[in-house]
Amino acid sequence: MKNIKTEIVIIGAGMVGQSIAYQLIERKISNKITIIEKENAVGLHTSGRNSGVLHAGLYYKPGSLKAKVSVKGSKRLKNWIIDNKLSINSCGKIIVPTETHLDKQLDVLAERGIKNGAKVEYLDEKSLYEILPQAKSASGRALWSPNTAVVNPKQVINHLKSQLELKGVKFKMGHKISKVNKFKSELVFEDNSKLSFDYLFNCSGLQSDRLAHKFEIGLDYILLPFKGLYWKIKDKSPISISTNLYPVPDLAFPFLGVHFTPSADSKPVITIGPTATPAWGRENYNLFDGLEPLMAFKNISILASQYIQNKGGFQKYVNEQAFQSFQPFLVKAAKKLIPSLKPEFIEPSNKVGIRAQLFNLKDSKLIDDFLCINGLNSTHVLNAISPAFTASFELADLIIDRSEIF
Ligand SMILES: Cc1cc2nc3c(=O)[nH]c(=O)nc-3n(C[C@H](O)[C@H](O)[C@H](O)COP(=O)(O)OP(=O)(O)OC[C@H]3O[C@@H](n4cnc5c(N)ncnc54)[C@H](O)[C@@H]3O)c2cc1C
Repeated sequence: MKNIKTEIVIIGAGMVGQSIAYQLIERKISNKITIIEKENAVGLHTSGRNSGVLHAGLYYKPGSLKAKVSVKGSKRLKNWIIDNKLSINSCGKIIVPTETHLDKQLDVLAERGIKNGAKVEYLDEKSLYEILPQAKSASGRALWSPNTAVVNPKQVINHLKSQLELKGVKFKMGHKISKVNKFKSELVFEDNSKLSFDYLFNCSGLQSDRLAHKFEIGLDYILLPFKGLYWKIKDKSPISISTNLYPVPDLAFPFLGVHFTPSADSKPVITIGPTATPAWGRENYNLFDGLEPLMAFKNISILASQYIQNKGGFQKYVNEQAFQSFQPFLVKAAKKLIPSLKPEFIEPSNKVGIRAQLFNLKDSKLIDDFLCINGLNSTHVLNAISPAFTASFELADLIIDRSEIF
Protein backbone atom coordinates (compact mmCIF):
# COMPACT_ATOMS: atom_id res chain seq x y z
CA MET A 1 0.00 0.00 0.00
CA LYS A 2 1.27 3.52 -0.84
CA ASN A 3 1.23 6.22 1.85
CA ILE A 4 -2.32 7.55 1.93
CA LYS A 5 -4.42 10.14 3.71
CA THR A 6 -8.07 9.66 4.57
CA GLU A 7 -10.70 11.53 6.57
CA ILE A 8 -11.97 8.52 8.47
CA VAL A 9 -10.17 5.26 9.12
CA ILE A 10 -12.03 2.32 10.59
CA ILE A 11 -10.00 -0.59 11.94
CA GLY A 12 -11.87 -3.87 11.49
CA ALA A 13 -14.37 -4.82 8.78
CA GLY A 14 -16.73 -6.61 11.15
CA MET A 15 -20.39 -5.67 11.48
CA VAL A 16 -19.62 -2.79 13.86
CA GLY A 17 -16.90 -1.21 11.70
CA GLN A 18 -18.89 -1.57 8.49
CA SER A 19 -22.07 -0.21 10.13
CA ILE A 20 -20.18 2.91 11.25
CA ALA A 21 -19.03 3.43 7.65
CA TYR A 22 -22.61 2.90 6.44
CA GLN A 23 -24.07 5.45 8.85
CA LEU A 24 -21.29 8.02 8.25
CA ILE A 25 -22.26 7.96 4.56
CA GLU A 26 -26.05 7.84 5.14
CA ARG A 27 -25.78 10.84 7.47
CA LYS A 28 -23.48 12.65 5.01
CA ILE A 29 -20.79 13.08 7.69
CA SER A 30 -18.00 11.76 5.46
CA ASN A 31 -17.56 9.73 2.32
CA LYS A 32 -13.78 9.56 2.50
CA ILE A 33 -13.60 6.37 4.50
CA THR A 34 -10.95 3.64 4.54
CA ILE A 35 -11.53 0.36 6.35
CA ILE A 36 -8.39 -1.54 7.40
CA GLU A 37 -8.88 -5.28 7.81
CA LYS A 38 -6.07 -7.64 8.80
CA GLU A 39 -7.71 -10.66 7.12
CA ASN A 40 -8.14 -11.19 3.38
CA ALA A 41 -11.90 -11.72 3.70
CA VAL A 42 -14.69 -10.38 5.93
CA GLY A 43 -16.61 -12.49 8.45
CA LEU A 44 -13.65 -14.62 9.57
CA HIS A 45 -14.21 -13.56 13.19
CA THR A 46 -17.24 -12.83 15.39
CA SER A 47 -19.55 -11.23 12.82
CA GLY A 48 -19.30 -14.30 10.59
CA ARG A 49 -19.34 -16.85 13.40
CA ASN A 50 -22.36 -15.96 15.51
CA SER A 51 -25.84 -17.50 15.85
CA GLY A 52 -27.34 -14.97 13.43
CA VAL A 53 -30.18 -14.19 15.84
CA LEU A 54 -31.70 -10.71 15.55
CA HIS A 55 -32.52 -10.29 19.22
CA ALA A 56 -35.71 -8.41 20.02
CA GLY A 57 -34.46 -6.58 23.14
CA LEU A 58 -35.84 -8.59 26.06
CA TYR A 59 -32.74 -9.18 28.11
CA TYR A 60 -31.15 -5.81 28.60
CA LYS A 61 -31.31 -3.65 31.72
CA PRO A 62 -33.37 -0.54 30.90
CA GLY A 63 -30.99 2.42 30.69
CA SER A 64 -28.05 0.33 29.43
CA LEU A 65 -26.56 1.00 26.01
CA LYS A 66 -27.70 -2.47 24.93
CA ALA A 67 -31.30 -1.57 25.85
CA LYS A 68 -31.03 1.77 24.03
CA VAL A 69 -29.98 0.31 20.71
CA SER A 70 -31.24 -3.26 20.48
CA VAL A 71 -34.94 -2.82 19.61
CA LYS A 72 -34.46 -0.07 17.02
CA GLY A 73 -31.26 -1.66 15.74
CA SER A 74 -32.96 -4.99 15.21
CA LYS A 75 -35.81 -3.35 13.25
CA ARG A 76 -33.39 -1.35 11.09
CA LEU A 77 -31.19 -4.34 10.24
CA LYS A 78 -34.24 -6.53 9.60
CA ASN A 79 -35.66 -3.97 7.15
CA TRP A 80 -32.30 -3.63 5.39
CA ILE A 81 -32.03 -7.43 5.11
CA ILE A 82 -35.55 -7.67 3.65
CA ASP A 83 -34.96 -4.71 1.26
CA ASN A 84 -31.76 -6.36 0.07
CA LYS A 85 -33.52 -9.73 -0.37
CA LEU A 86 -31.16 -11.60 1.99
CA SER A 87 -32.18 -14.78 3.87
CA ILE A 88 -34.28 -14.33 7.00
CA ASN A 89 -36.24 -16.76 9.15
CA SER A 90 -38.82 -14.73 11.08
CA CYS A 91 -39.48 -17.61 13.43
CA GLY A 92 -39.73 -15.80 16.81
CA LYS A 93 -38.33 -17.03 20.09
CA ILE A 94 -39.55 -18.88 23.18
CA ILE A 95 -37.86 -18.54 26.58
CA VAL A 96 -38.54 -21.19 29.20
CA PRO A 97 -37.47 -21.56 32.83
CA THR A 98 -35.50 -24.79 33.23
CA GLU A 99 -36.08 -24.89 37.02
CA THR A 100 -39.22 -23.81 38.86
CA HIS A 101 -37.36 -21.16 40.91
CA LEU A 102 -36.42 -19.44 37.61
CA ASP A 103 -40.07 -18.83 36.73
CA LYS A 104 -40.08 -15.37 38.31
CA GLN A 105 -37.24 -14.36 35.95
CA LEU A 106 -39.83 -14.49 33.15
CA ASP A 107 -41.51 -11.48 34.76
CA VAL A 108 -38.17 -9.64 34.95
CA LEU A 109 -37.52 -10.34 31.25
CA ALA A 110 -41.07 -9.39 30.22
CA GLU A 111 -40.84 -6.14 32.20
CA ARG A 112 -37.42 -5.32 30.71
CA GLY A 113 -38.69 -6.15 27.22
CA ILE A 114 -41.73 -3.86 27.56
CA LYS A 115 -39.58 -1.02 28.98
CA ASN A 116 -37.16 -1.45 26.08
CA GLY A 117 -40.01 -1.28 23.55
CA ALA A 118 -39.99 -4.96 22.57
CA LYS A 119 -43.08 -7.03 21.89
CA VAL A 120 -43.43 -9.89 24.36
CA GLU A 121 -46.23 -12.27 25.36
CA TYR A 122 -46.71 -14.91 28.06
CA LEU A 123 -47.48 -18.47 26.99
CA ASP A 124 -49.23 -21.08 29.12
CA GLU A 125 -48.33 -24.76 28.88
CA LYS A 126 -50.98 -25.43 26.20
CA SER A 127 -49.86 -22.62 23.90
CA LEU A 128 -46.18 -23.57 24.43
CA TYR A 129 -46.89 -27.14 23.28
CA GLU A 130 -48.89 -25.87 20.30
CA ILE A 131 -45.77 -24.07 19.03
CA LEU A 132 -43.13 -26.55 20.27
CA PRO A 133 -44.69 -29.92 21.22
CA GLN A 134 -41.31 -31.33 22.39
CA ALA A 135 -40.33 -28.38 24.63
CA LYS A 136 -40.56 -28.27 28.41
CA SER A 137 -41.08 -25.42 30.82
CA ALA A 138 -40.34 -26.30 34.45
CA SER A 139 -43.12 -24.02 35.66
CA GLY A 140 -45.51 -24.39 32.72
CA ARG A 141 -45.06 -20.73 31.74
CA ALA A 142 -42.93 -19.34 28.91
CA LEU A 143 -42.29 -16.06 27.08
CA TRP A 144 -42.90 -15.56 23.37
CA SER A 145 -40.92 -12.96 21.43
CA PRO A 146 -42.59 -12.77 17.99
CA ASN A 147 -40.06 -10.30 16.55
CA THR A 148 -36.92 -12.39 17.03
CA ALA A 149 -35.56 -13.56 13.66
CA VAL A 150 -32.57 -15.48 12.33
CA VAL A 151 -30.35 -14.40 9.43
CA ASN A 152 -27.22 -15.69 7.73
CA PRO A 153 -24.46 -13.53 9.31
CA LYS A 154 -21.81 -14.31 6.63
CA GLN A 155 -24.23 -13.34 3.87
CA VAL A 156 -25.14 -10.10 5.69
CA ILE A 157 -21.55 -8.98 6.26
CA ASN A 158 -20.45 -9.80 2.70
CA HIS A 159 -23.44 -7.97 1.22
CA LEU A 160 -22.84 -4.91 3.40
CA LYS A 161 -19.22 -4.81 2.15
CA SER A 162 -20.33 -4.88 -1.48
CA GLN A 163 -22.84 -2.06 -0.81
CA LEU A 164 -20.17 0.05 0.91
CA GLU A 165 -17.75 -0.47 -1.98
CA LEU A 166 -20.44 0.84 -4.35
CA LYS A 167 -20.67 3.94 -2.12
CA GLY A 168 -16.90 4.51 -2.43
CA VAL A 169 -15.60 3.06 0.85
CA LYS A 170 -12.06 1.72 0.39
CA PHE A 171 -11.36 -1.65 1.97
CA LYS A 172 -7.67 -2.39 2.58
CA MET A 173 -7.74 -6.13 3.18
CA GLY A 174 -4.84 -8.16 4.63
CA HIS A 175 -3.17 -5.09 6.14
CA LYS A 176 -1.42 -5.50 9.47
CA ILE A 177 -0.67 -2.47 11.64
CA SER A 178 2.83 -2.48 13.10
CA LYS A 179 2.88 0.94 14.78
CA VAL A 180 0.50 3.67 15.89
CA ASN A 181 1.59 7.29 16.06
CA LYS A 182 -1.31 8.84 17.95
CA PHE A 183 0.06 12.41 18.05
CA LYS A 184 0.54 12.43 14.28
CA SER A 185 -2.77 10.55 13.70
CA GLU A 186 -0.86 8.02 11.67
CA LEU A 187 -0.75 4.24 11.29
CA VAL A 188 2.32 2.38 10.07
CA PHE A 189 1.83 -1.02 8.42
CA GLU A 190 4.07 -4.08 8.30
CA ASP A 191 5.14 -3.16 4.74
CA ASN A 192 6.26 0.25 6.15
CA SER A 193 3.53 2.16 4.29
CA LYS A 194 1.68 4.83 6.27
CA LEU A 195 -1.88 6.04 6.54
CA SER A 196 -2.76 9.37 8.11
CA PHE A 197 -6.30 10.19 9.19
CA ASP A 198 -8.48 12.89 10.68
CA TYR A 199 -10.43 10.47 12.87
CA LEU A 200 -10.11 6.76 13.72
CA PHE A 201 -12.69 4.22 14.89
CA ASN A 202 -11.20 1.13 16.51
CA CYS A 203 -13.67 -1.68 15.79
CA SER A 204 -11.24 -4.55 15.92
CA GLY A 205 -13.44 -6.91 17.96
CA LEU A 206 -11.35 -9.56 19.67
CA GLN A 207 -8.24 -7.36 19.33
CA SER A 208 -9.86 -4.05 20.30
CA ASP A 209 -8.28 -3.74 23.76
CA ARG A 210 -4.81 -4.42 22.33
CA LEU A 211 -5.21 -1.70 19.69
CA ALA A 212 -6.74 0.70 22.26
CA HIS A 213 -3.75 0.11 24.56
CA LYS A 214 -1.45 1.27 21.71
CA PHE A 215 -3.34 4.57 21.93
CA GLU A 216 -3.02 4.38 25.76
CA ILE A 217 -6.77 4.01 26.01
CA GLY A 218 -8.66 1.54 28.24
CA LEU A 219 -5.57 0.38 30.11
CA ASP A 220 -7.75 -0.97 32.96
CA TYR A 221 -9.47 -3.41 30.61
CA ILE A 222 -8.42 -6.69 29.07
CA LEU A 223 -10.36 -9.06 26.93
CA LEU A 224 -11.18 -12.55 28.21
CA PRO A 225 -12.13 -14.70 25.23
CA PHE A 226 -14.85 -17.33 25.71
CA LYS A 227 -15.28 -20.02 23.08
CA GLY A 228 -18.72 -20.85 21.72
CA LEU A 229 -19.02 -24.33 20.18
CA TYR A 230 -22.15 -25.40 18.34
CA TRP A 231 -23.74 -28.79 17.75
CA LYS A 232 -26.58 -29.49 15.35
CA ILE A 233 -29.60 -31.77 15.22
CA LYS A 234 -29.04 -34.62 12.75
CA ASP A 235 -31.16 -34.61 9.61
CA LYS A 236 -33.09 -37.75 10.45
CA SER A 237 -33.62 -37.22 14.16
CA PRO A 238 -37.17 -37.12 15.55
CA ILE A 239 -36.55 -33.65 17.03
CA SER A 240 -38.48 -30.89 15.34
CA ILE A 241 -38.05 -27.25 16.36
CA SER A 242 -39.59 -24.41 14.41
CA THR A 243 -38.55 -21.44 16.54
CA ASN A 244 -35.66 -20.26 18.73
CA LEU A 245 -35.79 -21.95 22.12
CA TYR A 246 -33.78 -20.37 24.96
CA PRO A 247 -33.53 -21.04 28.71
CA VAL A 248 -34.13 -18.21 31.15
CA PRO A 249 -30.57 -16.85 31.49
CA ASP A 250 -28.69 -16.14 34.67
CA LEU A 251 -29.02 -12.35 34.60
CA ALA A 252 -25.97 -11.96 36.85
CA PHE A 253 -23.82 -13.39 34.08
CA PRO A 254 -23.55 -12.15 30.49
CA PHE A 255 -24.14 -15.50 28.72
CA LEU A 256 -27.54 -16.61 27.46
CA GLY A 257 -27.13 -20.35 28.07
CA VAL A 258 -27.18 -23.15 25.49
CA HIS A 259 -30.15 -22.73 23.14
CA PHE A 260 -31.73 -24.11 19.97
CA THR A 261 -31.64 -21.93 16.83
CA PRO A 262 -33.14 -22.76 13.42
CA SER A 263 -30.97 -21.34 10.63
CA ALA A 264 -32.19 -18.97 7.90
CA ASP A 265 -31.75 -21.64 5.18
CA SER A 266 -34.77 -22.75 3.12
CA LYS A 267 -34.54 -26.08 4.99
CA PRO A 268 -33.45 -24.80 8.44
CA VAL A 269 -30.61 -26.58 10.26
CA ILE A 270 -31.14 -26.53 14.04
CA THR A 271 -28.02 -25.66 16.00
CA ILE A 272 -27.52 -26.17 19.74
CA GLY A 273 -25.13 -23.79 21.45
CA PRO A 274 -23.08 -21.78 21.74
CA THR A 275 -21.20 -22.96 24.78
CA ALA A 276 -19.20 -20.38 26.73
CA THR A 277 -15.93 -21.96 27.83
CA PRO A 278 -12.64 -20.15 28.45
CA ALA A 279 -10.70 -20.00 25.14
CA TRP A 280 -6.96 -20.69 24.81
CA GLY A 281 -6.47 -17.78 22.43
CA ARG A 282 -8.52 -14.94 21.01
CA GLU A 283 -8.67 -16.65 17.63
CA ASN A 284 -8.26 -20.25 18.83
CA TYR A 285 -11.15 -21.66 16.76
CA ASN A 286 -9.53 -25.06 16.22
CA LEU A 287 -7.49 -27.16 18.63
CA PHE A 288 -4.04 -25.75 17.86
CA ASP A 289 -4.65 -22.67 15.68
CA GLY A 290 -4.28 -19.31 17.41
CA LEU A 291 -3.08 -20.76 20.75
CA GLU A 292 -1.85 -18.03 23.12
CA PRO A 293 -0.52 -19.95 26.15
CA LEU A 294 0.58 -16.85 28.08
CA MET A 295 -2.76 -15.12 27.61
CA ALA A 296 -4.62 -18.33 28.46
CA PHE A 297 -2.60 -18.79 31.64
CA LYS A 298 -3.29 -15.19 32.71
CA ASN A 299 -6.99 -15.58 31.96
CA ILE A 300 -7.30 -18.87 33.81
CA SER A 301 -5.73 -17.25 36.89
CA ILE A 302 -8.23 -14.36 36.66
CA LEU A 303 -11.12 -16.82 36.31
CA ALA A 304 -9.80 -18.95 39.18
CA SER A 305 -9.67 -15.93 41.48
CA GLN A 306 -13.22 -14.99 40.41
CA TYR A 307 -14.28 -18.55 41.22
CA ILE A 308 -12.70 -18.51 44.68
CA GLN A 309 -14.36 -15.18 45.51
CA ASN A 310 -17.55 -16.21 43.62
CA LYS A 311 -17.77 -12.74 42.10
CA GLY A 312 -20.75 -12.22 39.75
CA GLY A 313 -22.04 -15.76 40.36
CA PHE A 314 -18.84 -17.28 38.98
CA GLN A 315 -19.22 -20.56 40.82
CA LYS A 316 -22.65 -21.04 39.26
CA TYR A 317 -21.16 -20.32 35.81
CA VAL A 318 -18.39 -22.91 36.33
CA ASN A 319 -20.79 -25.53 37.69
CA GLU A 320 -23.37 -25.03 34.95
CA GLN A 321 -21.64 -23.74 31.82
CA ALA A 322 -17.83 -23.95 31.83
CA PHE A 323 -17.71 -27.62 30.77
CA GLN A 324 -20.44 -27.59 28.13
CA SER A 325 -17.92 -28.09 25.32
CA PHE A 326 -18.00 -31.76 26.46
CA GLN A 327 -20.98 -33.45 24.84
CA PRO A 328 -22.56 -35.00 28.01
CA PHE A 329 -22.67 -31.58 29.73
CA LEU A 330 -24.14 -29.96 26.61
CA VAL A 331 -26.79 -32.68 26.25
CA LYS A 332 -27.66 -32.34 29.96
CA ALA A 333 -28.29 -28.60 29.47
CA ALA A 334 -30.18 -29.07 26.18
CA LYS A 335 -32.38 -31.82 27.64
CA LYS A 336 -33.76 -29.30 30.15
CA LEU A 337 -35.37 -27.60 27.14
CA ILE A 338 -36.16 -30.69 25.02
CA PRO A 339 -36.36 -33.72 27.37
CA SER A 340 -36.59 -36.25 24.50
CA LEU A 341 -33.20 -35.15 23.10
CA LYS A 342 -30.65 -38.01 23.02
CA PRO A 343 -26.89 -37.83 22.35
CA GLU A 344 -27.38 -39.85 19.13
CA PHE A 345 -29.70 -37.15 17.71
CA ILE A 346 -26.93 -34.54 17.52
CA GLU A 347 -23.57 -34.06 15.81
CA PRO A 348 -20.85 -31.41 16.04
CA SER A 349 -21.32 -28.40 13.78
CA ASN A 350 -18.25 -26.81 12.22
CA LYS A 351 -19.34 -23.42 13.56
CA VAL A 352 -17.19 -21.96 16.37
CA GLY A 353 -17.25 -18.39 17.63
CA ILE A 354 -15.22 -16.56 20.25
CA ARG A 355 -16.77 -13.92 22.43
CA ALA A 356 -14.86 -10.66 22.91
CA GLN A 357 -15.71 -10.37 26.62
CA LEU A 358 -14.13 -7.42 28.41
CA PHE A 359 -12.91 -7.59 32.02
CA ASN A 360 -12.22 -4.61 34.28
CA LEU A 361 -8.92 -5.26 36.07
CA LYS A 362 -9.56 -2.45 38.57
CA ASP A 363 -12.75 -3.80 40.10
CA SER A 364 -12.42 -7.41 38.86
CA LYS A 365 -15.71 -7.46 36.99
CA LEU A 366 -16.89 -8.76 33.63
CA ILE A 367 -18.34 -5.83 31.67
CA ASP A 368 -21.92 -6.50 30.66
CA ASP A 369 -22.62 -3.46 28.47
CA PHE A 370 -21.04 -2.01 25.34
CA LEU A 371 -18.15 0.34 26.11
CA CYS A 372 -16.82 3.12 23.85
CA ILE A 373 -13.93 5.31 24.95
CA ASN A 374 -12.75 8.40 23.08
CA GLY A 375 -9.06 9.24 22.75
CA LEU A 376 -7.15 11.77 20.72
CA ASN A 377 -8.90 11.87 17.30
CA SER A 378 -10.20 8.38 17.95
CA THR A 379 -13.03 6.27 19.39
CA HIS A 380 -12.38 2.78 20.69
CA VAL A 381 -15.26 0.30 20.68
CA LEU A 382 -14.59 -2.20 23.44
CA ASN A 383 -16.85 -5.07 24.46
CA ALA A 384 -18.94 -5.26 21.27
CA ILE A 385 -20.56 -8.43 22.58
CA SER A 386 -24.05 -9.73 21.75
CA PRO A 387 -26.34 -8.12 20.56
CA ALA A 388 -23.84 -5.87 18.71
CA PHE A 389 -24.59 -7.73 15.47
CA THR A 390 -28.37 -7.23 15.86
CA ALA A 391 -28.01 -3.61 16.97
CA SER A 392 -25.17 -2.67 14.63
CA PHE A 393 -26.92 0.10 12.62
CA GLU A 394 -28.31 1.82 15.72
CA LEU A 395 -25.15 1.17 17.73
CA ALA A 396 -23.13 2.78 14.92
CA ASP A 397 -25.24 5.95 15.22
CA LEU A 398 -24.71 6.00 18.98
CA ILE A 399 -20.93 5.52 18.60
CA ILE A 400 -20.77 8.33 16.02
CA ASP A 401 -22.90 10.67 18.19
CA ARG A 402 -20.70 10.06 21.23
CA SER A 403 -17.44 10.37 19.29
CA GLU A 404 -15.49 13.60 18.90
CA ILE A 405 -15.73 13.58 15.16
CA PHE A 406 -17.85 16.74 14.90
C1 LIG B 1 -20.70 -17.54 19.66
C2 LIG B 1 -21.32 -16.18 19.45
C3 LIG B 1 -22.66 -16.06 19.11
C4 LIG B 1 -23.23 -14.81 18.94
N1 LIG B 1 -24.53 -14.72 18.56
C5 LIG B 1 -25.07 -13.50 18.32
C6 LIG B 1 -26.40 -13.37 17.85
O1 LIG B 1 -27.07 -14.36 17.61
N2 LIG B 1 -26.90 -12.13 17.64
C7 LIG B 1 -26.17 -11.00 17.88
O2 LIG B 1 -26.68 -9.89 17.71
N3 LIG B 1 -24.88 -11.10 18.32
C8 LIG B 1 -24.32 -12.31 18.50
N4 LIG B 1 -23.03 -12.41 18.91
C9 LIG B 1 -22.25 -11.18 19.07
C10 LIG B 1 -21.84 -10.60 17.71
O3 LIG B 1 -21.39 -11.58 16.84
C11 LIG B 1 -20.78 -9.53 17.91
O4 LIG B 1 -21.26 -8.63 18.89
C12 LIG B 1 -20.45 -8.76 16.65
O5 LIG B 1 -20.28 -9.61 15.57
C13 LIG B 1 -19.20 -7.93 16.90
O6 LIG B 1 -18.80 -7.34 15.69
P1 LIG B 1 -17.42 -6.61 15.57
O7 LIG B 1 -17.42 -5.90 14.28
O8 LIG B 1 -17.16 -5.84 16.80
O9 LIG B 1 -16.31 -7.77 15.62
P2 LIG B 1 -15.73 -8.73 14.48
O10 LIG B 1 -16.78 -9.29 13.64
O11 LIG B 1 -14.84 -9.71 15.19
O12 LIG B 1 -14.85 -7.78 13.58
C14 LIG B 1 -13.62 -7.26 13.98
C15 LIG B 1 -12.73 -7.26 12.74
O13 LIG B 1 -11.53 -6.58 13.08
C16 LIG B 1 -10.45 -7.22 12.43
N5 LIG B 1 -9.23 -6.84 13.14
C17 LIG B 1 -8.87 -7.18 14.40
N6 LIG B 1 -7.69 -6.59 14.71
C18 LIG B 1 -7.31 -5.87 13.64
C19 LIG B 1 -6.19 -5.04 13.37
N7 LIG B 1 -5.24 -4.82 14.27
N8 LIG B 1 -6.11 -4.46 12.14
C20 LIG B 1 -7.09 -4.63 11.21
N9 LIG B 1 -8.18 -5.42 11.42
C21 LIG B 1 -8.29 -6.01 12.64
C22 LIG B 1 -10.82 -8.69 12.54
O14 LIG B 1 -10.11 -9.45 11.59
C23 LIG B 1 -12.31 -8.65 12.31
O15 LIG B 1 -12.65 -8.84 10.95
C24 LIG B 1 -22.44 -13.65 19.11
C25 LIG B 1 -21.09 -13.78 19.47
C26 LIG B 1 -20.52 -15.03 19.64
C27 LIG B 1 -19.08 -15.14 20.00
